[in-house]
Amino acid sequence: MTPDAVVIGAGPNGLVAANRLADAGWRVEVLEAHPGRAGGAVASEAATLPGFVHDVGAAFFPFAAASPAFQALDLAPWGLRWGHAPIESCHPAPDGTVASISRDDDRTAASLGGRDGDAWRTLIAWHRTVQPTLLDALLRPLPGLWPKLKLLPFDLLRFSNIALRSGQGLARHLFQGEAARRVMPGLALHVDQGPEDRFGAALGYMLATMAATGGNAVPLGGAQALTNALVRRLEAKGGRVRLGAKVERIVVRQRRAQAVVLADGQEIPVGRAVLANTDAAFLYLKLLEGQALPGRLTRRMRRFPRGWGTFKVDYALSAPVPWAVADARQAAVVHAGDSVADLVRFTRQVRSGALPEHPYLVIGQQSLVDRSRAPDGQHTLWVYTRVPNTVEGGWAAQAEAMADRVDARLEGLAPGFKATVLARRMVTPPDLEAFDANLVGGDLGGGSNAWTNQLVFRPAFPYYRYRTPITGAYLCSSYAHPGAGVHGMCGFNAAAQALRDLG
Ligand SMILES: Cc1cc2nc3c(=O)[nH]c(=O)nc-3n(C[C@H](O)[C@H](O)[C@H](O)COP(=O)(O)OP(=O)(O)OC[C@H]3O[C@@H](n4cnc5c(N)ncnc54)[C@H](O)[C@@H]3O)c2cc1C
Repeated sequence: MTPDAVVIGAGPNGLVAANRLADAGWRVEVLEAHPGRAGGAVASEAATLPGFVHDVGAAFFPFAAASPAFQALDLAPWGLRWGHAPIESCHPAPDGTVASISRDDDRTAASLGGRDGDAWRTLIAWHRTVQPTLLDALLRPLPGLWPKLKLLPFDLLRFSNIALRSGQGLARHLFQGEAARRVMPGLALHVDQGPEDRFGAALGYMLATMAATGGNAVPLGGAQALTNALVRRLEAKGGRVRLGAKVERIVVRQRRAQAVVLADGQEIPVGRAVLANTDAAFLYLKLLEGQALPGRLTRRMRRFPRGWGTFKVDYALSAPVPWAVADARQAAVVHAGDSVADLVRFTRQVRSGALPEHPYLVIGQQSLVDRSRAPDGQHTLWVYTRVPNTVEGGWAAQAEAMADRVDARLEGLAPGFKATVLARRMVTPPDLEAFDANLVGGDLGGGSNAWTNQLVFRPAFPYYRYRTPITGAYLCSSYAHPGAGVHGMCGFNAAAQALRDLG
């Protein structure tokens, strides 16, 4: 039977879109290129030794509770359970200083200490009063943003005073000590937002406050558990996910999406809509190749602003990481970045195309929260840094050296770390792109997260409301607003748009 909708790609956004359409009574088929699993960058595998479960991409879910998409889909009955560490985000330095965010505001204030603790208390107390409105405004479709922004003028002014600064500008404005100052600029480097970048403060601010409110939640059993819950829910509503089905073309007749063609040549007709959970440039330049699209749009797609590459290392450890700083032993996520100056140096190196000498790290300790991830007494460690998309000599020649730098940085913060390593697996930017075509050059952010590629510019003005110039064809991936992160809102909003347009 012809599906009403085909969703190209079974990442979290594709699966959320499929669920929302299925809830509306549409017959939905999800076509996923990966031969073995759904989930895109939200999946888990036994990558090192038997009994160790590693997340291939996303591992921490600050939007787990707050995302309107996850709230609407209510995934608990479909087997999804979340866990939390006592500390959500820990920012140690080799000099023994540390700043830690937890969901207990007093504990965070005590960690930041003195006047920085008081500044945090004031900030987070205010943030808690505006967060629901703020998230609604930031995650829902644009341009409903400003009319729906029910913030009082004072709150709006206060948020603008945060969002319009650079990361280091905001850090200096809020805090006096180096430990507190390195937190938000460190968080912003999850994507390509350096401490000196204009209007770069908002992301670090949101990640810090989300860590304090929702926390960096960990799905019990692995990130794959989130994907599995979405797939189970979809199948119960009559939808289906087909693996090993790479879509190469959208068939358009009379300016309307009518079918998709798989790599093996099979044509699958579509009743109402095609939703692409893909790279935006791939959608416009490949899937819709040959269609009469506005020149401005295709030109932007040809030089689409990409985010940096990602270099990841998965470790199997014989014991927990022997962190020098006690807080780090209780943290879901630890960040290595000694100071704002260190993060600035790192950013400049990556932007110059060099391999970072002293790599900033995002370090995930899922097995501290979820004991199912590793054999008794042993642990997993999930670490990534940001790198140029390509390097001189190619990644095959550079990967070992880069992983050694990651090891050295961990050893600096946790003397004795190297002795706990049972196995390590390196994942280079081309490796990431090989398992998920959306991770172009290892970019985990769905394109750059600079302000010039956000809001109405994402992925291209005026196509920021999920529609394309082709009737019935939509973009539903993180390349659309509101962008990177596992909140499912790109898929949720795109499905709502398709339902409004095509009933
Ligand atoms: C290493 C890493 C760490 C991350 N850490 C976090 C984190 O801790 N927390 C967080 O919130 N976010 C994190 N992210 C970001 C997050 O994973 C992404 O923002 C999110 O997965 C985007 O979801 P998506 O559905 O848009 O795309 P994806 O998850 O990339 O899924 C896209 C899917 O579409 C499929 N596809 C693409 N093209 C085709 C085609 N032509 N035919 C068929 N199928 C196709 C792909 O195979 C893939 O399955 C991380 C990402 C990476 C890579």
